[in-house]
This record gives sequence, structure tokens and C-alpha cells, in this order.
Amino acid sequence: MSASVKQKLTVLGATGTIGVNTLDVVARHPDAFEVVALTGNGQVERLSQQCVQFNPRYAVVLQESAAEQLRSLLREAGCQTEVLCGVEALEFVSALPEVDNVMAAIVGAAGLRPSLAAAQAGKRVLLANKETLVMSGRLFMDAVHHNGAVLLPIDSEHNAIFQALPRDYNGDMQRAGVSKILLTASGGPFRRTPVEDLKQVTPEQACAHPNWVMGRKISVDSATMMNKGLEVIEAHWLFNVPGKDIQVVIHPQSVIHSLVQYVDGSVLAELGNPDMRTPIAYALGYPERIDAGVGQLDLFKVAQLNFEQPDLDRFPCLRLAFEALERGGSAPAILNAANEVAVAAFLDRRLAFTDIARLNEEVLQTVSVNAAATLEEVIAADQVARATAQNWLERRGMQAA
Ligand code: NAD
Ligand code: MG
Repeated sequence: MSASVKQKLTVLGATGTIGVNTLDVVARHPDAFEVVALTGNGQVERLSQQCVQFNPRYAVVLQESAAEQLRSLLREAGCQTEVLCGVEALEFVSALPEVDNVMAAIVGAAGLRPSLAAAQAGKRVLLANKETLVMSGRLFMDAVHHNGAVLLPIDSEHNAIFQALPRDYNGDMQRAGVSKILLTASGGPFRRTPVEDLKQVTPEQACAHPNWVMGRKISVDSATMMNKGLEVIEAHWLFNVPGKDIQVVIHPQSVIHSLVQYVDGSVLAELGNPDMRTPIAYALGYPERIDAGVGQLDLFKVAQLNFEQPDLDRFPCLRLAFEALERGGSAPAILNAANEVAVAAFLDRRLAFTDIARLNEEVLQTVSVNAAATLEEVIAADQVARATAQNWLERRGMQAA
């Protein structure tokens, strides 16, 4: 891409899997990108090394104690980066006037406010944090449209769909001749595990994804297929496609990252090795193509591509996501919040793998749905759902020690 003016970049969640992959791509193009801000929660040493390497103007952490630790590491390394602290600072670095691109790669509901701040400031938003769209799809898409922001999906499936849609696609399926979105899913590590054995699944087994290396939360979501459910909701908002026109297809090789079916019978797909640097590089370079450091796909090595229907009895979380999308309003935010509590309890060994779906279903049925028309309504739905989920855990004697 043209090297004359550097693209300025904030990376939210720089210390996570997507953040690290983003910086890997950025480091391959030192003349094209300049890092203005990096954020992280917890992994202070990694963040400090990233600051030394990329020399951003700001680094943001959540706790004052982490900020102190980071300041002292940076002082020792002679790095000038200014350390800020707290949620407001995350919003601040997402909306800085000098920033062109914001990579939104915080995990979970915590990513909502900074992603929204980037959209409201009219940035190019490289959206990995799918929870933003699941929780507040209408609000976020309105913020994108009203403020001239550009939204580029990082989730590999949505990035593939974005690539397979016409460049001028404006959310009008009919006009574009689109009949269906086909969302591929690997099926996770338990596609063939006998259903009666799923109860015994450990966090280590759930986090061992066959094809992708990801953070722990999304790895568990992939194992329950809640991740695909969240992605159905994400696709609905990104491409303005109703749930009935989104088909989940199990494709164990994860080579086809998703497909768009057109009314004339054509189906366009994006294929590649499963490596998140491809969608990241696509969004960073858009509309140009830049090197991602990813090896070329060898179709002779792949040899076979397989497809299956998803089994909704084995993966009830996928069914719940379609139900939440159908109910609309805050239902997806409620499901997302319940699921965050459930996954954290599972990772803490306080909840059986199969109870993740039971807890999610209970909360989705119990909490009343609001319109999710304002940020306050979205956050209220999120909080009531979390409290209801915690209550459920406590009633079953599974509360945190
Ligand atoms: P991760 O757990 O590896 O990293 C999460 C990042 O968010 C870290 O930098 C962490 O410090 C930060 N963070 C965590 N809690 C925070 C909080 N409360 N406030 C501020 N920052 C916080 O997660 P990941 O796998 O990189 O995923 C990030 C996002 O991208 C998620 O929304 C996930 O669904 C999405 N995503 C990831 C992948 C993947 O391959 N990893 C693929 C598609 C989409
Ligand atoms: Mg995905």
C-alpha cells in the first residue's frame, strides 16, 4: 500500500490473540502504519514489550496498580509512552483525532464502550469484538452510519462474507441478488464426542481447538457452538440479513471461511489457511491487499472439503442464539451476558460443560426483554442477566469461593 502517509492505529486488546496477530501484521509494514495507542488488561509485561517495540503515544490498562507497574517497566526501558488507566481512557484512545483505524479486539462485553466510541468518532473500525454487535447491534450500526465510520469485520467468517459481497453492498440483499449467507463452523473439538461424555469435558479439552488458536473465552464458545450463535447475530447486523437467511454449515477443515449464495445459483466463498492474520491484513490494507505472513493455501494438501448440518441437540447454544435473534431487543445481550458468566464459571471448574447451555437457557427465559434502544438499556439488560446467572449458580451451590 502507499507508504507516503502512515495509517495511524489504536489497538484495543493488544495483548490478546487478535491484538498480537494485529501487531505481527503491522510489524511487516513499518512504512504503512504507526501505532498511536495500545491497551491491555493484566499482561503488563507483554504490553510493556509491545510499547518498547512500537513506541505508541499512549498505553492503557484498567487498574491503577497495573498502570504503576507498567510505568516503572517503561521507565527502565527508556520508553516515552504515556500510561493511562480505566474505561474512560479506553474510550479516549478510541476517539483520538489523530487516529484513523481502531482495532477493537477486547474480549466480551467490556469491548462495547470503546468500540462504540470509535464508531461515534467516525473511525475505520476493525471489529473483532463481536459482542459489540450482539449486545447493541442497532445502536452500533446507527453510530457507524450517522458518523461516517467504516466498519471492517475481523471475524474470519464475516470478513469472508464481506469479501464475497459486492464492494458497493449497502445492506439491501434484494438489490445485490443475495439469497443466503452460509456461515461455516468447524464444529469445535466435540463434534464427534458421544453426547453423554460431554458432561465430563474439562476446560483444557474445551480450549484445545482443532484448527484455530484463540483466547480461552472464544475457545469455549467454539466448543459449545455459542460462538457460531453469536456470529449469526453479528452477521445479521453487519449485512442486514434476517436469521432465516443465515445457514450454519459445519465444515471441519476450516478452509472455507464462509460463503454468499446468490439468486442466480452462484455461490462465492473465501478460502485460505486458518490464520487470523489474513482477515486482519485484509482490513488493515483495505481496499488494497497487503502481505499477512500467511502461507499460501495448498489445495492438494487440503484434498477434501466436507460439510454437515449442525446438530442442535448436541449444540443447544446455537438454537438459543437463533431464538434470541428472533425475539430481538435486548434478548441477544441477555444471552451474551449469561454466557459470559457461564463460561467464566466453567473455566473456574464451578460449572459442568453441559450446564453452560442450561444456564444460558434459564436466563434467556427469565429476564424480561427491553428494546435495547439506548446504551443504558443495553447495559441494564447485561447487568440483570449477569445477576440472574450468578443467582442461578448460587442456588446450585456453585458461587465463587
Ligand atoms: P484474548 O482473551 O486473547 O484477548 C483479549 C484482550 O482483551 C486482551 O488484550 C485483554 O487484556 C483484553 N481485556 C480482557 N478483559 C478486558 C476488560 N475487562 N477491559 C479491557 N480489556 C480487556 O481474546 P481474543 O481471542 O483475542 O478475542 C478478542 C475478541 O476478538 C473477542 O471478542 C473474540 O470473540 C474476537 N475474535 C477472536 C478470534 C480469535 O481467533 N482469537 C476470532 C474472531 C473473533
Ligand atoms: Mg469466527
